[in-house]
Amino acid sequence: MTNRGLCPKCGKRVLHVNVENIVGMIDGDSKARCMSYCCIHCNTVLGVAIDARAKPRSKNGARAVTASAPAKPVVRAG
Ligand SMILES: [Zn+2]
Repeated sequence: MTNRGLCPKCGKRVLHVNVENIVGMIDGDSKARCMSYCCIHCNTVLGVAIDARAKPRSKNGARAVTASAPAKPVVRAG
């Protein structure tokens, strides 16, 4: 199979893309992790997609919010 896709700006064949993490804005809030695909020759953005694997940004930044208290054994009196 021959790749025939051409970059609309520099006209070179798109055999590789630079994938960059960008933030999707929904109603003015940065709620979605997205990715942009850029031409490796001229950095023109060829496309943008939402990163379905990523969790939305928390307000504190990129801190993991998975702290959970250890389970205590249940003690029943009587
Ligand atoms: Zn290009």
